Amino acid sequence: FNFQNTHFVTSAPNLDAMPEDSGIEIAFAGRSNAGKSSALNTLTRQKSLARTSKTPGRTQLINVFEVEDGYRLIDLPGYGFAKVPEEVKKQWQKSLSHYLQNRESLRGIVILMDIRHPLRDLDLGLIQWAVDSDIAVLALLTKADKLKQGPRKSTLLKCREELLSMGGNIQVETFSSLKRSGLDVVQSVLGGWFED
Ligand code: GDP
Repeated sequence: FNFQNTHFVTSAPNLDAMPEDSGIEIAFAGRSNAGKSSALNTLTRQKSLARTSKTPGRTQLINVFEVEDGYRLIDLPGYGFAKVPEEVKKQWQKSLSHYLQNRESLRGIVILMDIRHPLRDLDLGLIQWAVDSDIAVLALLTKADKLKQGPRKSTLLKCREELLSMGGNIQVETFSSLKRSGLDVVQSVLGGWFED
């Protein structure tokens, strides 16, 4: 798969407004500021396919991108932003779990976590949902360039141990948009899901 040809399709205000549930899609999720937009731009080699957030938590739209006809990347809104009202958070969690459980075309989910603060409650909740819904997970420890090699490796091993104990189909890797490290693994995992 050549991710460089990825283009924007639409912004959906909620998960009910998503395009037809056919083909294969891969969702990207993470706390606000985890580096999700940067990762999407790095993967697709485009400077501004996904908007990197100047104001965390501001974008609540679901952005839909197409890699090729019928093969989509879904940029889910960042979660965990303190200023979002409790009611809005609850509603979002409800529709997100509905999406994960009912979306036929959803083949896998990429969960991005800042390597300096991985495995927060909302991350673990989302991963548990994915496991329960039989959806493959690629957990990316982002901004890996922010840690030296020792702590980077030990954080990776610790996260692997914790996440693999949840069962399911989970892979954990480090990633840096800045250094473009981990890109090969991401491409091959996503390509594998698409070809499945
Ligand atoms: P999003 O809210 O998850 O979409 O996060 P963004 O992609 O907008 O990134 C949030 C902040 O982290 C921005 O200031 C980025 O420049 C920074 N950032 C993203 N990826 C990396 C990375 O790989 N290394 C470093 N050092 N900073 C990064």
